[in-house]
Amino acid sequence: ITEQKSYTERLEKTVALRTDELKTALAAEKELNDLKTKFLSMVSHEFKTPLSGILTSTMLLGKYKLTEQQDKREKHIMTITDKVQYLNVILNDFLSVEKLEKGKINYKFSNFKISKVLNEVIYNANMILKDGQHINYPEKIDDLSLFQDEKIVELALSNLIYNAIKYSSENTIIDIEISQNKDTTIFKIKDNGIGIPKKDQKNIFDRYFRAENALLMQGTGIGLNIVKDHLENLKGNITFTSIEHKGSTFTIELPNKAQP
Ligand code: ADP
Repeated sequence: ITEQKSYTERLEKTVALRTDELKTALAAEKELNDLKTKFLSMVSHEFKTPLSGILTSTMLLGKYKLTEQQDKREKHIMTITDKVQYLNVILNDFLSVEKLEKGKINYKFSNFKISKVLNEVIYNANMILKDGQHINYPEKIDDLSLFQDEKIVELALSNLIYNAIKYSSENTIIDIEISQNKDTTIFKIKDNGIGIPKKDQKNIFDRYFRAENALLMQGTGIGLNIVKDHLENLKGNITFTSIEHKGSTFTIELPNKAQP
């Protein structure tokens, strides 16, 4: 009888263990499925608006005679270019996610002046500023250089600066500060925008995550996730502080010299 009891006990334990394992596996699968659904819904949303814009513009473009209504044609060509560019940015983000996941990235290191990258990013950012928005940035930084992957530094700065523009209203100022010490360089991008609600702050670097107050603006929730992954691969980091309705400051720290 004792033997049978201990056998039953062992059997019960095994069954309980297997049930737990099964529950964990099912939960993991559900999480993966939820993520897939979220991804598909995000992709469809993000593609829908620019695509319908492109469709309307191409249809109208066909209606205007070549020699007449030149201004209207130009307006629609600009709309198409703008929307195709946006789709291109999203697709590049998707490709980056894939490469990062497969660990397939070959970073290319070189010596470059920080001012060169910054000027390029500011030039592009100036084109998408809202009315009365202004970017303050250090102009006398010609003595600062980095031995890093230039494209990644550009990607990180442009992501943060574009977000600062997108999540702030007209007539606001975006401040960029850059400082370099012996080993690392610190970039700070500060805005007076909508800020990030406290409850959402812990998830801000999660892939596809978007804070509740950001949903009216276009976005995929991928940019910060990619930037963080890249920076960590390069032994750097990204942090932020934010107060809802007041603004956010994102800080990047990168080693001055990458160790390939
Ligand atoms: P996206 O902007 O495409 O949604 P990101 O990965 O760049 O994706 O950012 C993730 C989320 O972080 C945004 O959806 C938004 O909620 C929040 N966020 C990022 N930058 C800012 C900012 N400067 N101000 C307010 N919220 C921000």
